[in-house]
Amino acid sequence: MPELVLAAKRERSLLRRHPWVFSGAIQEVRGEPGPGDPVEILSRAGEWLARGTYSPASAIRTRVWTFDRDEPLDAAFCQRRVQVAIDLRRRIYGGELPAACRLLNGEGDGLPGVIADRYGDTIVVQLLTCGADRFRSALAEALGAALPCTSVFERSDTDARTREGLEPQVGPICGTPPEGTIAIDEDGIRFGVDIRLGHKTGFYLDQRENRRLVGSRSAGRDVLNCFCYTGGFSLHALANGAASTLSIDSSQEALNLAAEHVRANGFAEDRAEFQQADVFRALRTFRDARRDFDLIVLDPPKFADTQGQLAKASRGYKDINLLGLKLLRPGGELFTFSCSGAMTPDLFQKIVADAALDAHREVVVLHELRQAPDHVVSTAFPEGHYLTGLHLAVR
Ligand code: SAH
Repeated sequence: MPELVLAAKRERSLLRRHPWVFSGAIQEVRGEPGPGDPVEILSRAGEWLARGTYSPASAIRTRVWTFDRDEPLDAAFCQRRVQVAIDLRRRIYGGELPAACRLLNGEGDGLPGVIADRYGDTIVVQLLTCGADRFRSALAEALGAALPCTSVFERSDTDARTREGLEPQVGPICGTPPEGTIAIDEDGIRFGVDIRLGHKTGFYLDQRENRRLVGSRSAGRDVLNCFCYTGGFSLHALANGAASTLSIDSSQEALNLAAEHVRANGFAEDRAEFQQADVFRALRTFRDARRDFDLIVLDPPKFADTQGQLAKASRGYKDINLLGLKLLRPGGELFTFSCSGAMTPDLFQKIVADAALDAHREVVVLHELRQAPDHVVSTAFPEGHYLTGLHLAVR
C-alpha cells in the first residue's frame, strides 16, 4: 500500500486522533496513490500512525479512516462503522429512530466526508471526499442492511466535492425513491422534503431542537422568520399558537413549499405571511416603516467557508443582528445563528454584543444553541461544531 511520511513533529494532531493530514505536513509520498486510494500514514521516524485515503487535489491531502493497524478499509469496515453510528442514534433517541434524522455525520462518526440522512424509507447520502466516493456501494449496502429502507439516493452536489476534484453526482444508488416530496413528521408537524432539489439532503435536520425551542416561545407572538427556507421555524411557531408569522426567503420555490406546509397542517393561512425578498433589504424596509416583532429568527446561509472570508462574513452577521435587534419590541426575543464552520461561538457572541451596543438594546443570553445531537461531533474533531446560535432576550 502507498505510504505517506509526515514531516518532523507533524504527527501531533494524529496522535490526538484528529483525522486530517494537510499537504504541508507531508514529507514524502511513497508509491503512487490515486484519488481515494488507501494510504498508510507514518511519522518521520517511521512509526505507523493511521490508515487514510488520498485526495490529491485537496489541501486536506489525506483523511484518516482508522487508527487501528489491524483494521483494513473494506466492506466489513463500512458495516461496522455504520452499525456503531446507528446504535449511537438509538441511544440518543432512547430506542426508535425518528423518521427524519441524521444517520452518519462524517468525521463525527469516523467516516470522513460521509453524510447520510433518513427521511422515512429513503436514505439520502452525500459523499464529499475521494475516500467517501470510493466507498459508495459498500456504504449504501451497509445502510440498507442496518436499517429498513426502500432506497438510497445520492445528493453529492456540493462545493466540497469540487475542492476534492470530484464531479457532482446525483441519483439513486439502490432502489427507487418516491416521486415528489417525502412526507416527514417533526413534533407532529408535517413537512414535505424534496430530496432531489432541496438544500443539503432536502431538509435542515440540524435545527430540529432549535425549531422546537422557537415553537415553545411563540404563543401569542408576532414572529419574523428570516431565511425561512421551507418554513421550519414558522411552522413550529404556528403549531404553538403564534399570533402571526412573516417568513422571508430569496427562493420562491422554498416559499411555495413553506406555504404548502401551512395548508397541509391546517394552520390559519391569514396568520402566515410570506415574502420573497433579500433579508438585508427587507430588514431595512421594516426599520424605516417602524414595523416591529416579538420574536425574530435569523438563520442565514453560510457566510464564510474559510478563515479568509471571516471578516466579510462577520460584517454580514453584524448587519442583520443589528437590524434584527432594532426591530424587536421591548421584551422581545431573537434567535440568531451562524452555520459558517469558521465562525466560533466566541466570535459570534462578540459580533452579537457589538450589534446590541450599536442597536442601543440591552440584551441577555437565555440559551447558547448548537446543532441537533444526531449531528455527532467527536472531541477529536471540534471542527464538527459548525452551527452556533444564541437565544437572546431584550430587557
Ligand atoms: N431556517 C431554515 C433553513 C435556512 S437555510 C430551516 O430551519 O429550514 C438559508 C436560506 O436562506 C435558504 O433557504 C436560502 O434560499 C435563503 N437565502 C440566502 N440568502 C438570502 C438572502 N440574502 N435573503 C433572503 N434569503 C436568503
